[in-house]
Amino acid sequence: MNRRNLRTFIQTKNDQNHKIIIKTIEPLQSILAARENRANLKFKLAEKGYPLLSFGLNVPGFPKSNPIVKQFFGYCLGELKYFMKARLIRFGVEAAVETCDAAGDLYLVPILPAKVSLPELKQLCEEFEERHLLGRFMDVDLTDEQGNALSSGKSKPCFLCQAQPAITCRRNRTHDLDELRSFMFAKMQSYCQSERESILAKRLSALALKSLLHEIALSPKPGLVDRFGNGSHTDMNFLTFVDSSAAIAPWLEELVRLGLQFCEADPAKALPAIRQIGLRMETEMYMATCNINTQKGIIFLMGLSLFACGRLFKESEHFDEEQFQSIVREVCRDIVNKELVDMVRYDRTHGEEIYHRHGFGGARGEAEGGFATVFEYGLPWLDLRDLPKEQAMQRCLLSIAARNNDTNILFRRGPAVLSTFQELCRVAAVDFNDQNYQAVLDYCNSENISPGGSADLLAISIFVWSVRQADQEASFPPLIPLT
Ligand SMILES: [Zn+2]
Repeated sequence: MNRRNLRTFIQTKNDQNHKIIIKTIEPLQSILAARENRANLKFKLAEKGYPLLSFGLNVPGFPKSNPIVKQFFGYCLGELKYFMKARLIRFGVEAAVETCDAAGDLYLVPILPAKVSLPELKQLCEEFEERHLLGRFMDVDLTDEQGNALSSGKSKPCFLCQAQPAITCRRNRTHDLDELRSFMFAKMQSYCQSERESILAKRLSALALKSLLHEIALSPKPGLVDRFGNGSHTDMNFLTFVDSSAAIAPWLEELVRLGLQFCEADPAKALPAIRQIGLRMETEMYMATCNINTQKGIIFLMGLSLFACGRLFKESEHFDEEQFQSIVREVCRDIVNKELVDMVRYDRTHGEEIYHRHGFGGARGEAEGGFATVFEYGLPWLDLRDLPKEQAMQRCLLSIAARNNDTNILFRRGPAVLSTFQELCRVAAVDFNDQNYQAVLDYCNSENISPGGSADLLAISIFVWSVRQADQEASFPPLIPLT
């Protein structure tokens, strides 16, 4: 808006309502001042002889920025940078300016010499706006080496009515300013929301997959499949686990999204929905492994963990262990009683059979208790920074195995063997040396046992530890501000 328009605007407003003018003059003046500053800044940067790209948002009315606008600006700027970099456009980031003044949020950056001509670059800026879901809210502009603006001559359609050019609606004041602004902020909010959910789902599922792979790759492990051998298994090897991990990986994101979108008052209602995704994962696992059960237990436990993270991050910016445990407990409330105690079935799973014979709840019991074994016995070992990573994970496994009534061992060999195994694990966890660790490995070989349930809890420990680390490194996106 130039000064003549400003006067007309003030005059019209004055005729309408004297009060409004008091509120509007000052912002208008500061916007004009901000625009003048920006022009000077562009001129200064242009002196270095590079074309300039500027990125801003079209926010009608005042103020031009607020927390939701700022967050939207941040997400879009990130996308713009990837968009340009992918097309081999290099930004002179050292001279870049990112600021927020009365005219709104602004990013200004020199474009380093490229094989692309300026008109082609202008086309790329337009392509970015056109391709973006909310590109009409943006201004990606270009000035040449002399500081002259490059214009495409195209007029953008109004983002509210889409019936006529935006400039026409603005001049004729076709729309109520408040209506325009709330429409825009609501769109920005839902855009940021979906970006946040997408980043959370990707980062958390990546940490889940990493935890599965770390557990599988940890070597040597007692009785379990590892990089060096098949432990007490004859029907699977390291690559079988790689195959099934790859097969289930694409479903991990869905578990996070389930937690992010869950809005029932009773968390126990989430269990069938988590299982439904888990069952799809089991099908993929069996397809990838020619019908071998490699990861059924961890699919259940990791499903709960990812759901709990989604639910937790829905309303929080940070990972809270107590809240995580409490969500898992609530989702699995009374699960042992409901699913194991009254079950009279002829096709019981190993876990169900063990519960009836020995009264141990297995993975269900662990989940109902909010992964108490993980938090009490597993995680403290991973927290010890002085230990080499592999040793920390091995001691974490031993410490869990010393307490966990592993249904895999109970099913194969019974309680006496489990008890000897647990004692060997306890000794090796506390006094970790080659001899004590070897004793655990040898015992598993001689008794042909494999602590699969404890290995699953190791993977959950690695997952929780990794989420905590990522949170400390501020890897998770902030909450979306309310409009
Ligand atoms: Zn319109």
